[in-house]
Amino acid sequence: MYRILFAASEAYPLITTGGLGDVAGALPAALKRLGCDVRLVLPAYRDALAVARRPQRVARLAITPGQLEVDVLETRLPGTGVKVWLIHHPPAYDRPGNPYLDPAGQPWADNAMRFALFARALAALALDRAGLGWRPHVMHAHDWETGLAPALLQHEPQRPATLFTIHNLSYQGLFPYASFVALGLRPALWSAEALEFHGQLSFIKGGLVFADHLTTVSPSYAREIQTPAFGYGLDGLLRHRGQHLTGILNGIDERRWNPATDAHLRKPYGKRRLADKGVSKLALQQECGFEPGADVPVVASIGRLVAQKGTDLVIEAVPALLDLGVQLVVLGRGEASYERALVELAARYRRRVHVHIGYDEPFSHRVEGGADMFLMPSRFEPCGLNQLYSLRYGTVPVVHAVGGLADTVVDAGEAQLAKGSATGFGFSAPTIEAMLGAMDRAIALYRQPARWRHLMLNGMRQSFGWRRSAERYLELYGALNARARDVP
Ligand code: ADP
Repeated sequence: MYRILFAASEAYPLITTGGLGDVAGALPAALKRLGCDVRLVLPAYRDALAVARRPQRVARLAITPGQLEVDVLETRLPGTGVKVWLIHHPPAYDRPGNPYLDPAGQPWADNAMRFALFARALAALALDRAGLGWRPHVMHAHDWETGLAPALLQHEPQRPATLFTIHNLSYQGLFPYASFVALGLRPALWSAEALEFHGQLSFIKGGLVFADHLTTVSPSYAREIQTPAFGYGLDGLLRHRGQHLTGILNGIDERRWNPATDAHLRKPYGKRRLADKGVSKLALQQECGFEPGADVPVVASIGRLVAQKGTDLVIEAVPALLDLGVQLVVLGRGEASYERALVELAARYRRRVHVHIGYDEPFSHRVEGGADMFLMPSRFEPCGLNQLYSLRYGTVPVVHAVGGLADTVVDAGEAQLAKGSATGFGFSAPTIEAMLGAMDRAIALYRQPARWRHLMLNGMRQSFGWRRSAERYLELYGALNARARDVP
């Protein structure tokens, strides 16, 4: 049985802002079911502490430099039984709201300190310096917030194997040189072969350079980030590490996202009760103030309102989309200019465009349940989760065929339709023309109810549970552990 120290800056349902939180909330439980002894480690944000059940202090660490006192609080991940260790240091984490951004939407000014502290606590736990009598075989760390931990462990003879997962290469944790000095990191780490990135301190490089192995969240994204178009200047490093970089598709929480048991839906439905999806559709149309109509295609978009997700393409294409005769519902929050533009569009097209600015999980379920199509024109997409939820809900995805979207949605070309493998629509460039072309094809098929039903059912039959992905991680842990030293 492998002992896994699983480190992330968010995990559902304690704290979450997106896909990473979903993954860190589900993968540890799937690993536990496969027999791993997992400890999930998170910063003790105020909002996470408010949700955590009876956190108990189990250790106190003195973190250098400065001998900062940090408590390790133990709790369980609600609904899973996975043990969670919360790194409690109120000056760093006891503040409300978003883990990364202040109320003005800017990164917290002390993020370098906050996540360096987190990484130092992780390194201490990885070496059992907290005296907890538990030493991991593998430290599995995620995204830039944990990036310094593999770098800190590099020269420790007793260290566990290290695995670093990239959920989104565009978030790198870049800080000025002054932060490098202030953090008291070893001077040798200031080099282009280590943490320096064009004169800045790069947290993510700590993971990319020093972890024994790297993964990212889909096979296509693993290939794409080794090219200049998707590599953010790190493609050379990633090509160099190409032999130690694997793409493993994320799973979804099939209990949380199941139209047959979803308490957010007015009437649950499934493959054998597909007509009942119409109840959710009508309810959504009413909620959005749309003209009710079973024949009017409802198109949905949920996610962060940022250029990555192609929000600008959706905004610009609204008149053309409406010309196709659809009703459009958008749920998200993000860049202020996109939020404003969407709110204006909703005011202009009151009965046909509904915009909900915010993070609203219940509404996201009602949207998945009620919509006919899910539009996802991401410019890049490491894995993407909403197209997977959509497949499960019979809400046909229309996606830019990139990254995880290319790996999970099978385009409804004639051949794939004939074979019965089609599950959605893909377009090959992140442009309005290409997106509208795919939407055109989607609407045309929607007008052929029998074939559309077939497409919905194909999607609903796909399986994207965590078990298969967790088995792949387990194989990797085994291979890494075989190479690691000194862990009995
Ligand atoms: P990313 O991690 O890049 O934001 P993913 O598709 O991997 O994108 O995951 C996003 C997750 O966050 C999904 O579970 C999605 O449903 C959820 N989500 C994003 N924005 C919202 C929102 N405004 N309201 C509710 N859920 C949201």
